Amino acid sequence: MSNRNSHVLDVEGLGVSFDGFKAVDGFNFYLAKNTVHVIIGPNGAGKTTVLDLICGKTRATEGSIKFKDRELLGTKEFKIVRAGIGRKFQNPSIYENLSVFENLELSHPSGRGVFGCLTFRRTPAIIEACESVAKQIGLAYKLDTEAGILSHGQKQWLEIGMILMQEPEVIMLDEPVAGMSVRERQETAALIRRISENRSVIVIEHDMEFVKEIADRVTVMHMGKVIAEGTMETVQKNEKVIEVYIGH
Ligand code: ADP
Ligand code: MG
Repeated sequence: MSNRNSHVLDVEGLGVSFDGFKAVDGFNFYLAKNTVHVIIGPNGAGKTTVLDLICGKTRATEGSIKFKDRELLGTKEFKIVRAGIGRKFQNPSIYENLSVFENLELSHPSGRGVFGCLTFRRTPAIIEACESVAKQIGLAYKLDTEAGILSHGQKQWLEIGMILMQEPEVIMLDEPVAGMSVRERQETAALIRRISENRSVIVIEHDMEFVKEIADRVTVMHMGKVIAEGTMETVQKNEKVIEVYIGH
């Protein structure tokens, strides 16, 4: 099943227990290069926990997470980020009183950490990187705008941009369109398609119309396990999936 050459992530037999309760159990997940892979499933299925395990926020009790053949299990969170896996959390952590440009600039790898800040120089390469990311997130015309006055959707995009500044090979988004307007949802779908042209994107999402629009692959979770995997078309016809969704 696993073809290591075309995968960036090979997750096998992943599991974690909280006080004896198996939140994630025997989870297998293969992330192909330059694809959008959506994880769906009812509330409490273990979707967010899977992202916590991949980014090292939660330590798995069993299994393996290979990032291009490098084992991530047991690796510290900041090292996983440096290796090339970025994660967007549900609440944006942007600096409201700084401009869009400054928020992006701060996220440039050379600006990282206290030492990085003291020695930071605004080089043409950094300016170019900020402008290029701003274009990708649809905020090129807002570079000088204070982040605090952006719309809810624009703040979410800015945070995605801050992750893109680190040039991750994998970016993970947990319910990225929650609270967004219809128009913002459409723009976010286009944004996700755009950024997946040269990286892989894992998205957790409930809105099925949105999933249909963005997903190359879909993994369906239920009670910590994978119950179906494939294209949206095949997964939608799966009997176990229909049962779980009607049951909820
Ligand atoms: P989903 O994102 O699919 O809605 P979660 O991954 O957030 O589900 O949660 C899966 C299950 O694991 C839930 O029953 C939740 O209560 C439990 N859980 C998640 N994180 C923890 C934790 N840190 N401690 C105890 N239980 C947790
Ligand atoms: Mg969740």
